[in-house]
Amino acid sequence: MAGYKIAVMLGDDIGLEVVPQTVAVIQSAAAAAGLPLEFSDFPIGWTAYQKYGETLPEATFEGIQSCDGWILGPIGHAAYPKHDPKCINPHPILRKRFELFANIRPARSYANIPSVHKGVDLVIVRENIEGMPPDRNTVRGSAEYMPTEDVAISTRIITRQNSERLMREACLLARARRKSGRVTIVHKKSVFKLTCGLFAEACLKVAREFPELTVDECSVDTFAMKLAMRPQQYDVVVTTNIFGDIMTDLAAGLVGGLGLAPGLNVGPRHGMAQATHGSAPDIAGKNIANPYAMINSGKMLLEWLAIKHDDPKAAAAAERIARAVEQVITGGRSLTPDLGGTASTAEMGGAIALACS
Ligand code: ATP
Repeated sequence: MAGYKIAVMLGDDIGLEVVPQTVAVIQSAAAAAGLPLEFSDFPIGWTAYQKYGETLPEATFEGIQSCDGWILGPIGHAAYPKHDPKCINPHPILRKRFELFANIRPARSYANIPSVHKGVDLVIVRENIEGMPPDRNTVRGSAEYMPTEDVAISTRIITRQNSERLMREACLLARARRKSGRVTIVHKKSVFKLTCGLFAEACLKVAREFPELTVDECSVDTFAMKLAMRPQQYDVVVTTNIFGDIMTDLAAGLVGGLGLAPGLNVGPRHGMAQATHGSAPDIAGKNIANPYAMINSGKMLLEWLAIKHDDPKAAAAAERIARAVEQVITGGRSLTPDLGGTASTAEMGGAIALACS
């Protein structure tokens, strides 16, 4: 093929710093692996609002659809003015409209990086388009409402079809990782008998398609305790939206913080690299944000393209990034302050890009 088209959406705050580093790293790895790529920028977030009057311009929405993969920087929606319906958080819309049903979030510790635990290498597969978030689980209106000034109600959606495809993604991942082959289903079906009950039932049905895997279940409260105490025991974890949202930040905290937490949103047709962290306005503009999470999200996008298109060059480019990141992290010299170093975002990104070539 002529080359993959990659949509680049910078996002806000530290997105303006970590996303360009990610593109440079991918370009370096792709060039070395002989993988042709074409990058196109699409405005999103605050800069798009200032220029076009909306945080998700129609041209972005339309334009990205013809791209093979997307890179989305963090969105600083918490600081957006609340009065304008065109000034909204765009990423839930992308996740929902393009059915990006699985949010794949690895957590991995390194021997030389300060962390609560060592020897951690797990992936949480978080449901991404249903559950409790009120901006995601309805076609129109909101799943959160106030019948009176003193009463507020949230509702949660769980569907069999989505739970099944989420579990299939988790099982395929466990198979591809070739580690323990353990998939842990996290829910709270003892209390949420219908919703978590349906989720667990759907997951267990899909598990039967993968007899080589060891599938177990855990209630989310027990899981939180076990994750905090002995995260090394987990390989792939699959869970519903908000449980996954919380557990992925916890897992990131156990291995060294949000700067080390990459992510990939996966749907039936699209893959979107998006780090777990937010736009970190407290450190934006200082050139100290850790680019690891965003760069590894880009690596995950290449891995996804490699599988989707059965493309060894995309796999080779991803492998180059993995090795380069490993080299820079274990080398310990070009690390940002959150990892105990003194390097800038650009220095750490530059060192990884160089190691890819
Ligand atoms: P959101 O709800 O949008 O995910 P958040 O409220 O979880 O955002 P973040 O923006 O992720 O908040 O920031 C949480 C903390 O982690 C902040 O102190 C921030 O500086 C830090 N942080 C986040 N990302 C990085 C990064 N890439 N490098 C270094 N520190 C980071």
